Parts: sequence; C-alpha cells; structure tokens
Amino acid sequence: MRKYSGVKFSENHIKSFLASVPKEVKVVAVSKTKPVEDILTVYDTGHKIFGENRVQELTGKFEILPRDIEWHLIGHLQSNKVKHIAHFVHLIHSVDSMKLLVAINHEAVKAKRIIDVLFQVYIAREETKFGLDKQELVEILSSPEIHTLENVRIRGLMGIATFTEDMSQIRSEFGTLKKLFDFCKQNFFGNSDTFSELSMGMSGDYKIAIEEGATIIRVGSLLFGERNYL
Ligand SMILES: *Cc1c(COP(=O)(O)O)cnc(C)c1O
Repeated sequence: MRKYSGVKFSENHIKSFLASVPKEVKVVAVSKTKPVEDILTVYDTGHKIFGENRVQELTGKFEILPRDIEWHLIGHLQSNKVKHIAHFVHLIHSVDSMKLLVAINHEAVKAKRIIDVLFQVYIAREETKFGLDKQELVEILSSPEIHTLENVRIRGLMGIATFTEDMSQIRSEFGTLKKLFDFCKQNFFGNSDTFSELSMGMSGDYKIAIEEGATIIRVGSLLFGERNYL
C-alpha cells in the first residue's frame, strides 16, 4: 500500500526531510531493522533522536553507538524487560498498563533516574493488540497509586492511526487523540507543561498528524528507505 522505494537513502535526502519538518516538532528517526552504519549516516547530519520498537535491538544499538543519542522505545514493552533499558532510555512511548508503569518506576528508582513516559492510546479502527482506550486511561490517571510513582514523569500520549489510504479517517483518529490529550492535560495535570507531548504520525501520515497537533512524529521508512521486514 504505502511504498517508499523512491527514497534514496543519502545525506541530502535526510537533511532535506528533516528541514521540511516544522522545527517545533521533534522527529524520532525509527531505525528498527536498520544497520548501525545507516544510523550513523543520520547521526552525522546532526540528528540525535532515534527510536526502536524492540528492547533487545534497542540495547544492542545503544551499546555500540554514540552516547549522546536520545533513545526512544516506541514498541510494546513487557514489564520484565524494563530493567534492560531503564538506565538509558529517554522516552518510553508505549505504556499501556498500570502494571507496566509501576515496573518502570521501580527500575527508575534502582537506576536513580526519572523516566519520561507516554501512554499509548488505541485510536485505530483495526484490531490491534496494544494501547488503552479512553476509559482505561482515565482509570489509571484517577488512581491514587499514580501519585506514589515518583520516578516516572508522564509527558503525554502516543497513538497509531489505522493503516489506510482514507486520509479523513486518519485525520479524525488524530483529532480524537488530540482532544483526549487536551482533556487529560486539563483534568489530570492542571495544564502543567510537563504533560506536553503528543506522539502521532509515521511516514505515511505525519503531515496530517502535525496539522492535528503532533509534537513528536515517528518516521522510519521515509527517512531510511523501506524495511525488508516488520
Ligand atoms: C515502525 C514504527 C514507526 C515508523 O514507521 P514508518 O511507517 O516506517 O515511518 C512508527 N511508530 C511505531 C510504533 C513503529 O513501530
């Protein structure tokens, strides 16, 4: 459906893509399945924010790549794997349960860090496995326990739109997520600027996401070229 075979992975391509994104929007360069050489090509243009969806691949790349890279975990995270990333991860986009949030806090205490997180909200029409619905999110945010988790900082929400060519569908899903973000910010965070990030938009739909209020976009194929798998 969406093809990025036209993408020629080169320094010029990377630079012109990054320059085309409004500067207040952060770009997570999604490097999953891509070799470290490709990551370094992007890094050498001055870009420092990268994202992976698997813990093992993330830790492997963290260990061999420059230490000033900001690593984001964008994929599903199991509670028992948090310990592998707690000492270095910059932002976890995919918190989808209280249990996971508690585990992240626990490992953050051990690592003597505050870990920034987003709640992943399910907005797509498709049957996908991960993410909270509005009610589940509100339940977590209302629970007294959340105030005891002093080593996690809830920075905002993340969502993945339906994989479709129907742009009005995608726009409406992003709009729904933005409304939920505003609702949470007002009702649970006293409009605090700590709750300020809305991670939505990938290669095929990032422009719509930005128009609908994204502060972070997660772009893989359009930056690195098509992946062979995943
Ligand atoms: C792979 C992935 C992306 C990037 O996808 P592209 O379509 O290649 O830009 C973004 N977000 C998540 C959660 C992903 O798993």
